[in-house]
Amino acid sequence: MRYISTRGVAPALAFDEVLLTGLAADGGLYVPESWPVLGAGDLAVMRGLSYGALAERVLAPFAGEELAALFHGAFDEFDHPEIAPLTRIGENEWLLELFHGPTLAFKDYAMQPLGRLFDHVLEARGARLTIVGATSGDTGSAAIAALAGGKSIEVFILHPHGRVSEVQRRQMTTVDAPNIHNIAIEGTFDDCQDLLKALFADEDFRKRTRLSAVNSINWARIAGQIVYYVWAALRLGAEKTGLAFAVPTGNFGNVYAGYAARQIGLPIRQLVIGSNRNDILTRFLESGVMQTRTVEPSLSPSMDIQVSSNFERLVFDLLDRRGAPVAALMAEFKKSGRFELDESTMSRARELFDGARLDDEQTKKAIAQIHSETGILVDPHSAVGIMAGRARRRDKSIPMVAIATAHPAKFPDAVEAASRIRPALPPHLADLHQRAERFEVLANDLGQVRTYIAERAVAA
Ligand SMILES: *Cc1c(COP(=O)(O)O)cnc(C)c1O
Repeated sequence: MRYISTRGVAPALAFDEVLLTGLAADGGLYVPESWPVLGAGDLAVMRGLSYGALAERVLAPFAGEELAALFHGAFDEFDHPEIAPLTRIGENEWLLELFHGPTLAFKDYAMQPLGRLFDHVLEARGARLTIVGATSGDTGSAAIAALAGGKSIEVFILHPHGRVSEVQRRQMTTVDAPNIHNIAIEGTFDDCQDLLKALFADEDFRKRTRLSAVNSINWARIAGQIVYYVWAALRLGAEKTGLAFAVPTGNFGNVYAGYAARQIGLPIRQLVIGSNRNDILTRFLESGVMQTRTVEPSLSPSMDIQVSSNFERLVFDLLDRRGAPVAALMAEFKKSGRFELDESTMSRARELFDGARLDDEQTKKAIAQIHSETGILVDPHSAVGIMAGRARRRDKSIPMVAIATAHPAKFPDAVEAASRIRPALPPHLADLHQRAERFEVLANDLGQVRTYIAERAVAA
């Protein structure tokens, strides 16, 4: 399997090269050259496999047998025997719990295998890498948990000082490994992202430190997320009848993986996107106009995003996989913060996708309502997804699976405000508030950040 850029210019690469590269050289995102298709027989054989075995099986066409095998053991440390359990929350309505990994958010499901892939590929090449990431919370902790102790990688994670939740910060700063460097920037998340972009734009620095990224533009993360869509369908016995998913969405990585699962033959009939007040995707589905506004803080901070990077991958397919028009649209979007798709393209998108938004008040009410109906406490992101799914559900005869993207204890203040119950951390994190923290506070200053990283990064 080879991977091509959504902007049509960068060279096609193999899976391991795409893993190390992240963004394509032409500014595009890598996607498979063609979609491998599962036959009905393939799905039948996959029923009954453990989660790890299923991951290996689903990803072999994407990654090759050798690298796919690394997925098999990547979930051994998860705290639930099913890895991704399904819980009934209503009539033919299910919650897919993706918070049983080390950092309590769905990002572990792709990041844990990613750590193993990096180790394996770098070791085979005798190469080393510097990973730099900016995080508003969950990506940073998942990356640190996956990459801590790696021999071939130095990891630098920028977070906005004083602007991530205490649980999120402690999940990053209490990891005691020599290759992990936490940097608290005196600024906002956007400042962190701007610093990151500036570091990547500095060609000399990028080459010297062998810089790479683990955000969701990395194809390997999308691939890892395809697995739980297939898992849910098989567990529900819906691999023939079809099913729908509701996905709380920020950067469009998770829900795009659902789209990818459908492209390889899973009968997904509907994908519902849940947004908070930062509702660029929901507005887009309503109007056909993608238009950024300023990011506003909400109770579901991991969805406080105005530019959903992975959406470009869907646009590529909607425009019949032609790179030039995608590049033109993205250039327009970068310049003006706006682009538009025509009616026939939009109607194709709407065949599969719906969107719904919840503000903070509605999110709190949703947490309370779901708790009183089912006895289950959900985190604010998951609550947005569940309610979006209910609001836009088309067919009650097929299962609706709402994706629970985080453990409620990751956002204890919001959950307590909504339900009057303070969710407890699971046993493996029970002493999180007693662990020692390590991080460096740096000014929002490119020169300082660059020097700090350069002195500690791997050298080319
Ligand atoms: C990252 C994240 C999301 C958004 O996922 P995308 O792939 O960016 O759409 C939603 N909920 C939680 C808890 C997250 O950490």
